Formats: sequence, C-alpha cells, structure tokens
Amino acid sequence: MPPDRVAQKSGFAVGISGYSVAMADSMAAAVGVRPEPASTVDYRLVRAHVLQRLLSGTWMADDLCDAHPELLRAGREVGTPAGELCPVCQGDELALVSYVFGPRLPAHGRCISYAAEIAKLAQRKGRFTCYEVEVCPDCRWNHLLRSYVLQPR
Ligand SMILES: [Zn+2]
Repeated sequence: MPPDRVAQKSGFAVGISGYSVAMADSMAAAVGVRPEPASTVDYRLVRAHVLQRLLSGTWMADDLCDAHPELLRAGREVGTPAGELCPVCQGDELALVSYVFGPRLPAHGRCISYAAEIAKLAQRKGRFTCYEVEVCPDCRWNHLLRSYVLQPR
C-alpha cells in the first residue's frame, strides 16, 4: 500500500501536505520579511520521512517527541497557530516558532516573540538566518520546517 494510503488509514498526517510552502511564505509575509530567494531550505521531505518511520514502527514516538521545555514554552506563549492538527497526536495546539541567529544575538538564537521583531532584525546590518520549527505542547512533537536568510524590505 502506498505510504500516503497507509497514512490516511492510520490517521497520521504524513506527507508533503502537512506544512505547505504557501503557509510558510504567508507566515514570513505576516511578520514583514522576505526570505532571500536562494537561501530557503525546506525540510518537509525530512519531516515526511520521519513521520513515515514513526508510522511504520521503525521509530517510536518517545524517540521523536522530545521537545525541550523551552521550546514547549515558546510554542505555548509566543508561537503562531499552525492551522493544522499535530501529525502525531492530532492535537490542535500545534504551533510554529521562529528562531533567528546572527550577529549580536545569543548563541542559542533569539526566539521571535512578536511579529515586528523579525522585521526589525531583517533591517539590521549583517546576515540573519531564521529557523521555523513546529511544536506540539500536547505530545512534544517538534520538527524543523524551514530555514531562510532574512532579506530587508
Ligand atoms: Zn502532538
């Protein structure tokens, strides 16, 4: 049976459908930034692969649903609703969290807590890279979705 059929049968939201490029682009636009065109790395295929491994029983949820407490907190307090259910537990609290790395930012990056913050960072001198992560506070699922270099408007 094709993987997408297995996924549908089991209730897992596996595949490319979970997180769309359009959603990612609208998220970036909503916070006032444009990704530098050639800089975007999309991790949806990796995500689909990981979820397939979970679905097949090769990997266990306990091995994958290991979000750090700080990421869980960020998802609850400053995350943007993902607009879809968690692909693992089907919970409706799935959130998107953005971290930016660059000059004069903490070594662990800056967690974006309000929309205008990322636009301000994009205007700074230097190269800043944003990493978008999805996290589920219910089951602790988390996965990197996309990274891109901020481009000033
Ligand atoms: Zn979940």
